[in-house]
Amino acid sequence: MATTTLPEAEIETQTKSNASSNGKKNAATKYVYSFGGGKADGNGKMKDVLGGKGAGLAEMTNAGLPVPPGFTIQTEACREYMRHNAVSKAVDEQMQDALAKLENLQGQKLGEGENPLLVSVRSGAKFSMPGMMDTILNLGLNDKSVEALAKRSNNPRFAYDSYRRLIQMFGNVVLEIEKAVFDEIFDAKKHQKKTKLDTDLDAKALQEVIVEYKKAVKKHTKRDFPQDAHEQLVMARDAVFRSWQNDRAKHYRRINNIDDMLGTAVNVQAMVYGNLGDTSGTGVGFTRNPATGAKEFYGEFLMNAQGEDVVSGVRTPVPILELQKVMPKVYDQLREITTRLEKHYKDMQDFEFTIQDGKLYMLQTRNGKRTGRAAVRVAIQMVDEGLISKEEAIFRVEPNQLYDFLVPGLDEKSTKIEVLATGLPASPGAAVGQIVFTAEEAVKKAGHGTQRNPVILVRAETTPEDIQGMEVAAGILTSRGGMTSHAAVVTRGMGKCCVAGAGDIQVDERAREMRVKGQVFKEGDWISLDGTSGRVIKGKLNTLEPSADDADLQKLMGWAEPFRKIGVRANADIPRDAVQARSFGAEGIGLCRTEHMFFAHDRISHMRTMILADNEKDRRAALKKLLPMQRADFLGLFKAMEGLPVTIRLLDPPLHEFLPKREQLMVAIASLPSATPKQKKDMVDEYREYGAKAVGDLKKILPALLARVEELHEFNPMLGHRGCRLGITYPEITEMQARAIIEAAVIAETKGIKTHAEVMIPLIATVKEMENQGSIVRRVAEEVFKEKGKKVHYLVGTMIELPRACIVADEIAKDAEFFSFGTNDLTQTTFGFSRDDINKVLPTYLAEGILKQDPFASIDQDGVGELVRMGIERGRKTRPKLEVGICGEHGGDPASVEFCHRVGMDYVSCSPFRVLTARLAAAQAAASEKLQIDGGRTK
Ligand code: PEP
Ligand code: MG
Repeated sequence: MATTTLPEAEIETQTKSNASSNGKKNAATKYVYSFGGGKADGNGKMKDVLGGKGAGLAEMTNAGLPVPPGFTIQTEACREYMRHNAVSKAVDEQMQDALAKLENLQGQKLGEGENPLLVSVRSGAKFSMPGMMDTILNLGLNDKSVEALAKRSNNPRFAYDSYRRLIQMFGNVVLEIEKAVFDEIFDAKKHQKKTKLDTDLDAKALQEVIVEYKKAVKKHTKRDFPQDAHEQLVMARDAVFRSWQNDRAKHYRRINNIDDMLGTAVNVQAMVYGNLGDTSGTGVGFTRNPATGAKEFYGEFLMNAQGEDVVSGVRTPVPILELQKVMPKVYDQLREITTRLEKHYKDMQDFEFTIQDGKLYMLQTRNGKRTGRAAVRVAIQMVDEGLISKEEAIFRVEPNQLYDFLVPGLDEKSTKIEVLATGLPASPGAAVGQIVFTAEEAVKKAGHGTQRNPVILVRAETTPEDIQGMEVAAGILTSRGGMTSHAAVVTRGMGKCCVAGAGDIQVDERAREMRVKGQVFKEGDWISLDGTSGRVIKGKLNTLEPSADDADLQKLMGWAEPFRKIGVRANADIPRDAVQARSFGAEGIGLCRTEHMFFAHDRISHMRTMILADNEKDRRAALKKLLPMQRADFLGLFKAMEGLPVTIRLLDPPLHEFLPKREQLMVAIASLPSATPKQKKDMVDEYREYGAKAVGDLKKILPALLARVEELHEFNPMLGHRGCRLGITYPEITEMQARAIIEAAVIAETKGIKTHAEVMIPLIATVKEMENQGSIVRRVAEEVFKEKGKKVHYLVGTMIELPRACIVADEIAKDAEFFSFGTNDLTQTTFGFSRDDINKVLPTYLAEGILKQDPFASIDQDGVGELVRMGIERGRKTRPKLEVGICGEHGGDPASVEFCHRVGMDYVSCSPFRVLTARLAAAQAAASEKLQIDGGRTK
């Protein structure tokens, strides 16, 4: 387990509470908050101090609900622990006082006497981090108290099972002994007793397991398992504090944008047992359906089980409605309590309960995680029910969740499908990909970047350790577990398709295969998942485009949109994408990367001829062939956008990207003499577009091609011959592109289609560059107007993607009529991080806390953001009405959109599938400013 001690100064600035590292002040700090007997020291509003769970327990206790009593050690103690690797004396003293109070209330003593008090020790941060930190149950058991428990419960098996669970959890979490050590002992015992299920081991066998477990503890830690319950408690508390800093938790915070400095609270609570027999049980539930948002009581439970059995997916639980038959009174009480909780919190609740000997206890309640569709539906229902206002409803949906409305379905019409199994529809959408059986394999196979290989992670059940694999997978399939299993909860939060608990499938992770319906599927085989129906389908199905015209979504957007101040455009290169972006509400194209048009098969050969030309005449001849194609492209965009702005960027990437790789050519040259006739024929086909018609041609073409590739070779192409530098060295390229744009606009207007062209020059660093390129565009435009006898309105502007451009923005704005911040390159050039190679260092930087998040995903507001702010300010000094937007990837990231709103941009531009997200994020940014509501964006 990786733990880090945080520097004092950093923490001091983060905490506003009254504590500090100064010992004198500690005495005045209230570290421990008791709850029980209908009264709590804290309340539901104190999430910063008590964590979500602790605040919920206090609130429920104050509301008179049946909550097992206990106390919460507040988050400041955790921060203190991070600073000093220990808590102060005041924490220990206050904890002892709270324990004494709890013992009084219960009439029990921790781990002592005939009726020993046993407690659970759980983490609970301000923001829920399911399964990321550690929990210890049954604390207080030791060689003596286990006998007392056996006697009192009249169930020795239960008592020994609880004790062995404690040693196992304590051994793993507190003493840092690998889980496998205990699993091996347990499995060996099952093998020896020839049993299959854990529950088949009797009291005697479990006593033997305990002896073995204790030996293992001694072997690995050189000390005995602590018999003193108070010592157990102190050690468990500190281990939970440490778990805030484990790798899983850090990773989870990073992807959910949760501040590392918050720390977790620790909740110590009297144990109640759901595994005391047939009148005991445990379960989890939601007050509404977290997948669809339907208003129905939703959840699952298991009789004679502990909480871990339900959520870990080891046993498949029963739908909660069944509880009505098993224990009707408890069911009615649970419904009454949870309905009350929902009204109280004015939000859908996710709750945990335990029934001990027929008596119901509430263990937890919190606002439930839900899919995007459910979030929208629940928000609308709650407005209809008068629970919340329309303005509040806008904030009940995380902008990224709207992606759920855009998730594809499976195209089942085009092929005959074979359903292999049906599991639970745990998280909606469809996923098609190649099977992998481990998280590491998922990461390896999926690769990096935006174009990931689709993989489906197939597991018996997922655990928090799988989080990285789950993140990169297209979909998740588990053979065990329910709707609240780890896989289900996490994927819903990620907006990722998941089928859980497909019990007909046998997953053998060791052999890397899954068996179903007598067939064997190996790593790399294709399957398709339908997360909306729970079906697992053989093979690689096509997917269907989703649509954003859902009535509820429209309604919510209708409430949000009037607040929005900044425009939302899309990055789209072809008419099809432009049409799709408009259907999602895009108000223009903020970036058309023209180079993408050159990769089409009918153009690439002209493009290559142009690049290979070593004189202007040949270059112009090739460009002439490209002109009509580009014109048609732009006409298509103008038609699709019907008068909305279309920002077209002139050629940007280094030219060698269009040519074969140097190494590839060298291999071809070397292998040509010994190639077989078939190989030679393939080579002729491969180099046909460079003029190869027969094998003999290759001997001339390949070396010539290699020579040109070597000429174009650059050590740092991203800082090399690209952007406006191309148009400056080869002005004929800019001329051709400007002509294609302006001619297309004239044709469109002649046909009665309105146009609003914005010609954008990339990678400008100086005003001279801008003037050079701007003057070419304007000259060509005048020529076209003259030739056609018709004028159209257009703008010439620039991308701002170099730090120098931000600094001299006032100069550049003399010639540029608009700015569009290219924050991909601006991030690259500000940090000096290669945007293509950042993945080599990023994981370490994130793990070490050097960076809080990937600066290419969410704008670095302190550095890159300051440059943006400066660029806008200086640009508008020269040209007060200067139009300003952003077209880097950040334009679709909610936190960055909020930033763009704050610095006064006119619009953001993002990929079509993020348009909805950007619209809601922009609306929330403006609404939270106007209504003074905390949008919760910056955690
Ligand atoms: C940018 O640099 O932010 C940008 C949008 O351009 P590209 O990603 O094409 O370099
Ligand atoms: Mg760029």
